[in-house]
Amino acid sequence: MHHFIVIGNPISHSKSPQIHTAFAQSLGLDISYQRQFCPDNKESFNAVVEAFFHGGGTGANITLPFKEHAFRLCQSLSDNAKTAKAVNTLMLKDGKLHGDNTDGQGLVGDLLTKGVKLQGASVAILGAGGATRGAVLPLLNAGANLTIFNRTLAKAQELISDFDAHLPHGQSIHALPLSAENLTGYFDVIINATSASTTGQTLPLATSDVVCGTAYDMMYGKQSQFLEHFKAQNAQCFDGFGMLIGQAKLSFEQWTGESVDLSKVDLSGIL
Ligand code: NDP
Repeated sequence: MHHFIVIGNPISHSKSPQIHTAFAQSLGLDISYQRQFCPDNKESFNAVVEAFFHGGGTGANITLPFKEHAFRLCQSLSDNAKTAKAVNTLMLKDGKLHGDNTDGQGLVGDLLTKGVKLQGASVAILGAGGATRGAVLPLLNAGANLTIFNRTLAKAQELISDFDAHLPHGQSIHALPLSAENLTGYFDVIINATSASTTGQTLPLATSDVVCGTAYDMMYGKQSQFLEHFKAQNAQCFDGFGMLIGQAKLSFEQWTGESVDLSKVDLSGIL
């Protein structure tokens, strides 16, 4: 039997145990997947991780606020984790703690599954936090040209400078301040990766003239001012539930070596 945990603070809201249990049921696997609360300090986090793997645990997901701590703790990292500077998936590889970041690949996989073309597409990302950091390399690898809009411009500029070395030939990445004046013109895809709506704040969309073919809000399970705005323009609109499932699927597959067929997974009742 495989043992998994998700470590976070807070953690009671996490849907990961239900999602991974649904994956396991679709494959007839026996697993245990628990939520693990951890005090918000590095020493406690390190102790939880060490005890879990020392005790025979197979894999751990990491959520807020520990993704950067996990990154620093790992002895080996995937390319996505290296460029994201954050880890959401831990496992042992050759006895060493290995970290990956599956958030961005989960996003890209979801967009492609939904038929959204990324090769050569102009993609705007609102926000330059951890979720954007995880998404940039997978979006560039899928062939997108990126413009990152952030309230704090310096943060977006710092982020894009980290990706200079990874910019594929002929593709572009730019940073702009997030304001109605800058949000202008047409984008094939606009992604909301800010936490504005989770805290009841609004984005400067009403007075901007930006238009898009596809609008994607990484947030899920809540009403979205961002999606309402673009629905009114007849753009195709998606929330981040598919990204959540996608990142979980990629963690599960690495841990178990099995391949999850989402058409065989019962995800009803998870939200
Ligand atoms: P962070 O806290 O790392 O970053 C938050 C970002 O939001 C920053 O760029 C911040 O700008 C911006 N922001 C916050 N408030 C406002 C505002 N009022 N106006 C404009 N910009 C604002 O968060 P994450 O990157 O971790 O998460 C972002 C979103 O993505 C959340 O809604 C989260 O739930 C979702 N998410 C979804 C996942 C999924 O699987 N579907 C996975 C991961 C995240 P500034 O730099 O100026 O402070």
